[in-house]
Amino acid sequence: MSAYYYLEEPHPTGIFTIHTDDCAIVSPTDSKVFIGKFDDCQLAIKKVTLEHPYRIFDGCSYCCPSCQNW
Ligand SMILES: [Zn+2]
Repeated sequence: MSAYYYLEEPHPTGIFTIHTDDCAIVSPTDSKVFIGKFDDCQLAIKKVTLEHPYRIFDGCSYCCPSCQNW
């Protein structure tokens, strides 16, 4: 089980990227929003999409490649 976050600042495309708390490519200065602890990134995306139905979330290519759709 891992802790999942999304970056407060979306991509220029408007997509919010989801990361685990140990992702090596997230800068410590980036502002992160805690989603929760889940068995996999699919569950994290499901939860955060329910909270923010008008936002698009996508997995980080480094720490959540199985959730990367965009
Ligand atoms: Zn990541």
